[in-house]
Amino acid sequence: MKIYDVTAPIFNGMPVYKNKPEKQPSIETNTNGHVTESRLSMDVHTGTHVDAPLHMINDGETIETIEIEKLVRPVKVFDLTEVDEKISLKDIQGFEIEENDFILFKTKNSWDTEFNFDFIFVAEDAAAHLAEKKISGVGIDALGIERAQDGHPTHRSLMGSGVIIMEGLQLKDIEAGQYFMVAAPLKIQNTDASPARVLLFDEMIG
Ligand SMILES: [Zn+2]
Repeated sequence: MKIYDVTAPIFNGMPVYKNKPEKQPSIETNTNGHVTESRLSMDVHTGTHVDAPLHMINDGETIETIEIEKLVRPVKVFDLTEVDEKISLKDIQGFEIEENDFILFKTKNSWDTEFNFDFIFVAEDAAAHLAEKKISGVGIDALGIERAQDGHPTHRSLMGSGVIIMEGLQLKDIEAGQYFMVAAPLKIQNTDASPARVLLFDEMIG
């Protein structure tokens, strides 16, 4: 069995959304000569992470309410590396999308080594299609699942339909196909997202 770690490393100076300085994690390491302890301060949307509905919906559910069974399960990786600018309905219509699927989109974003302001995102019409198909979750290899859409319709239609959103995946080495996923957000209470370690296995487990 092969394990693929599709998680972005977290470090001082890592790529963050729109290169905003306030989104940079701060890791301070202190030692008294015997004991070393580091203190980490960061945005919950840093690196690879899972969004909770509260992120875009007032009074929405918080991250710890997402059952782990919804994040530890089979997933489908779709190859959309030919797509430019955004993933539209026409780009995903040919794929077999079934109710309850968890889908990860592999795009050109996976080759970015710094924040790309023109990252490929999921367009409103594709998001509406995914919501209509009643998928369970969707992940993308960018720090956002949408950009340049007023009112955040992609987030809203996915979250409004209970679709879990995962961002910041690194899928460069992952071929299209089926995998078993372990996505484990930190058990932080009452927040709108949490960083997660996300692993893909080439064999089904359980
Ligand atoms: Zn996010």
